[in-house]
Amino acid sequence: MDIRSLEEHELTGWCVRQGQPAYRGRQIYEWLWKKQVRNLDEMTNIPKDLRARLCEDFSLRPLREIQTSRSADGSEKVIYSLHGGAVLEGVLIPSKSDDQRVTACVSSQVGCSLRCAFCATARIPFGRNVTAGEIVDQVADLNAKSEAEHGRRLSNIVYMGMGEPLANYDEVVRSIRLITADNGLAFSPRRITLSTAGLVPEIRRLAGEKLGIHLAVSLHSAIERTRRSMMSSARTYDLDEIADAVRSWRKETGDIVTFEYLLLSGVNDTPEEHAALLRFARALPCKVNLIEYNSVVGIPFTGTSEGAINSFAQGLRDADVTVTVRHSRGKDIDAACGQLAARKIS
Ligand code: SF4
Repeated sequence: MDIRSLEEHELTGWCVRQGQPAYRGRQIYEWLWKKQVRNLDEMTNIPKDLRARLCEDFSLRPLREIQTSRSADGSEKVIYSLHGGAVLEGVLIPSKSDDQRVTACVSSQVGCSLRCAFCATARIPFGRNVTAGEIVDQVADLNAKSEAEHGRRLSNIVYMGMGEPLANYDEVVRSIRLITADNGLAFSPRRITLSTAGLVPEIRRLAGEKLGIHLAVSLHSAIERTRRSMMSSARTYDLDEIADAVRSWRKETGDIVTFEYLLLSGVNDTPEEHAALLRFARALPCKVNLIEYNSVVGIPFTGTSEGAINSFAQGLRDADVTVTVRHSRGKDIDAACGQLAARKIS
């Protein structure tokens, strides 16, 4: 059994059943989540015979880095191998400005259980959900790289890598609690953003978890037929349901949702699409993040030009919509938005 699937109270119960004091459970928990041991034998303040029993009853299955690619723009894509042979990708993105930000983009599924027409991850078969431990490992590893290469801890963590985080709800929520806990990695929840394609029941449930994180929802079009042609989830949850979920997120958490909008030339950057987005966004407590798209081999979309993105953004600003523009990072290493598609490396 993977020891990291146990909560602290379960570890404590196991220690007590071994005739050990209850505080051993907390010590083991801290070794696992705060100190990030890779081997049960590294728990030096745990008696040797107890460590031997731990090794008999449990295994520890950290992910393993197998390849790193560095982009000319400074971002870095890391391919990890998981227990059982699956692989996934995490990305480290140092800011190009002077704000000292270093962002980790983590994956929550091997492949993805959804189908977005523009996305490379959607082209690979869904493998499995990633465990909370494997998500925490990505953060811990990317944080170590940030400290070693940029001299500072991660400033932001985004659940925007491979997979739909809310389709792996329990493990993702558990990972957020571990990343933010004092006896875990102790990151501020205000620095964490979870991005979903718009799974409405899970957005409502997440709002009630009181995690203190930010939420981004992939909108990509405010016209139903366009959105449905781009995203499989849009065939399940329509724009009215997304709007209601965004309002209830605001009510429950006090936070404003960010709509992600990947600009595809001739698809969702037309005057009709612009007008629809403007109407939709103005009616809701939200921000809009326009994202530059990178072509993916075999996928018939091209990104909107930089000049057209800026005009699209200005038109929204002129109507008092809060807009940011995210230019792609890591294009040359296929680490940009929609490009992640780790395959098993032989
Ligand atoms: S864009 Fe996100 S939700 Fe859509 S297929 Fe890709 S990884 Fe899945």
